Amino acid sequence: MTIAENIAAIYENIAKTCAEYECDTSRVHLIAVSKKQDERRIEAALQAGHRIFGENRVQEAYDHWAHRRGQYDDLELHLIGPLQTNKVKDAVALFDVIQSVDREKLARKLSEEMAAQGRDLPCFIQVNTGLEEQKSGVIPDAVPEFLDYCYHDCGLNVTGLMCIPPVDDPPALHFALLQKLARQNNLPELSMGMSADYEAAIPLGATYIRVGTGVFGERE
Ligand SMILES: *Cc1c(COP(=O)(O)O)cnc(C)c1O
Repeated sequence: MTIAENIAAIYENIAKTCAEYECDTSRVHLIAVSKKQDERRIEAALQAGHRIFGENRVQEAYDHWAHRRGQYDDLELHLIGPLQTNKVKDAVALFDVIQSVDREKLARKLSEEMAAQGRDLPCFIQVNTGLEEQKSGVIPDAVPEFLDYCYHDCGLNVTGLMCIPPVDDPPALHFALLQKLARQNNLPELSMGMSADYEAAIPLGATYIRVGTGVFGERE
């Protein structure tokens, strides 16, 4: 299948799933995760009309996207990977949404950089729903307090939550938990679901699904 066909098939699956669960298709946005994909594939996705992309590394995102900003004024770039504080300046300059806010120092630095650059980017809090030691994200119980810090101490525009479920768990449990946390904290956006499990994330309220291999094929 071509990349245009992959994208069309994902939108068809979104429509089918939404019909089955009586949800509104326009709620679900597809982030094409272009990390470790080559130029030819990224061009193909753009040619197919796709404009929302995700990257997990700041430097690679610059290589992929900095020169394309001038060509496509409707690009929407999401940072979906861990962010080190020494990369915050570059991240704020390039991305449109930061999905991986997970600690006070980072929240503070993001707010300072956004003020300095005159940018007010929507942010998501990454939640470690599986309580995995090696994974970033705040633990579920800490969400209200961390959110309060982001809003009131930093003035960050937090609009949603993001999670990456543990590989061996049924993902729906984690999606349901993230949905519950978002409701309790009045957050409208939910970034959850990848190539293997986005169809399970849709009935549980996903507003952004992050699909890499399902759009582009296997990574290098
Ligand atoms: C790589 C990545 C994805 C995409 O994964 P696929 O399985 O290729 O769809 C989604 N979210 C995050 C945070 C990623 O790092």
